Amino acid sequence: MKKMASSYDNVQVSILSDDERFVHLTDEPVKLELARQTDCVTLTLFKGGNKFHVITITSSTEYSRYGKQGFIFTNEDKSSLVRFPSIHAMKQFQFQFKQMRSVLKSVFTERTEEASAVQYFQFYGYLSQQQNMMQDYIRTSTYQRAILANLIDFHDKVVLDVGAGSGILSFFAVQSGARRVYAVEASSMAEKCEELVRHNKLSDKIIVIPGKVEEIEIPEKVDTIISEPMGYMLFNERMLESYLHAKKWLKPGGKMFPSVGDLHIAPFTDEALYMEQFSKANFWCQQSFHGIDLGSLRSAAVEEYFKQPIVDTFDIRICMSKSHKYTVDFEQANEEDLHVIDIPLTFTMTQSGMVHGLAFWFDVAFLGSSEAVWLSTSPTETLTHWYQVRCLLQNPILVKQGQTLMGKCVLRCNTRQSYDVDIELNIPGTSSKSQNTLDLKNPFFRYTGQQPSPPPGTNNTSPTDNYWNSTMLSKSFSN
Ligand code: SAH
Repeated sequence: MKKMASSYDNVQVSILSDDERFVHLTDEPVKLELARQTDCVTLTLFKGGNKFHVITITSSTEYSRYGKQGFIFTNEDKSSLVRFPSIHAMKQFQFQFKQMRSVLKSVFTERTEEASAVQYFQFYGYLSQQQNMMQDYIRTSTYQRAILANLIDFHDKVVLDVGAGSGILSFFAVQSGARRVYAVEASSMAEKCEELVRHNKLSDKIIVIPGKVEEIEIPEKVDTIISEPMGYMLFNERMLESYLHAKKWLKPGGKMFPSVGDLHIAPFTDEALYMEQFSKANFWCQQSFHGIDLGSLRSAAVEEYFKQPIVDTFDIRICMSKSHKYTVDFEQANEEDLHVIDIPLTFTMTQSGMVHGLAFWFDVAFLGSSEAVWLSTSPTETLTHWYQVRCLLQNPILVKQGQTLMGKCVLRCNTRQSYDVDIELNIPGTSSKSQNTLDLKNPFFRYTGQQPSPPPGTNNTSPTDNYWNSTMLSKSFSN
């Protein structure tokens, strides 16, 4: 963690004595330093070439305003009063202090393991990762279209870009007429973003703020918040919580871009995928692998493979009913609403066959003042870098067309910036039921680049006849 420090001149500092009366530490104005260490903020006073430690402020230190120009800090054993020469100097101190203190115990640090956060922000610090997202043409163009199609929501407005990365969305906001954009980015990409802003001569409009949105201060409230916080299955990375947290900076009635997110869930059939996972685990069936019996680990291997959500794409016809839609309204929801996401499910089966699990994809909508624009990751649309996600059941369920399939999907957040996914399905009135728990942090990336094939059994006419008839037809036209 970087050490941050600021100093303030002409400050007076008093310490509370044992009998609870203030004793002056400084009778004449001195210089005070406010510095952030790894797990605390320190106040140090400089007087006559000497340094005096005033107070160590940790996450449990209480603090409040004292008079118009003062601040009082209280630890269990000691209180310190700091008086500034002007309200302006006090405000400056307050701004810096809040920023330093918020890092000690922020909503983000409270909900995230340090190791997860370090690895996460290292990942986004790579230009190649930003490039990967920027080159998702559907994603980037849809964002640009949504922003430019809604000039009213940007023209002359103050905008906050949550997780700005390269700054691409901030640039779009400026293209749409934004007066000022605060581009908040927690990874080292903030420096690269700043560099691009300078290079594009937009330093007067785009203000890059390095840090987590939960921990930074911005000098004013904003009209519109833009962000691209979606992960696999919409919720992975838990960045939607940061996006919702950022609403503390939104003026009442301000706009969120995107405004809503829909998670779609549908039961699917895919024997080949199901068999593939078992075949991988069957490695552990060998009784003499280099002379060693691996058999005792086979069931653990099956468990492990089935815990992994599968990330790839598929033909929508493997879905055995219409998808269930779970909507999050980003303008209404709070970050706590995303801690446990409990989705009851009821499907009316449109096909008979084996249900091997649940398929997931999401859409987000930009409900602008002029136009609504949707970004979809549905299997029916052009593939994006979010692909689709499938959660398998170890025990598939046989269903008949017209039957009702019930169950639930519960997403429980964890401190690894992800979710544990519980899925449960049953056919009411029968003993058929199946359940699985998956780890969204550790998905299996199965995409091969090949066009997914339609599920077997979808030809209702002779494909051979169809082929020859269509080639004959085109021949007769060209003749
Ligand atoms: N807006 C860019 C980048 C999107 S990726 C684009 O659309 O191309 C998400 C970015 O958000 C990453 O760069 C990541 O480092 C950043 N981020 C994630 N959580 C954050 C948080 N809590 N505060 C600030 N930035 C965050």
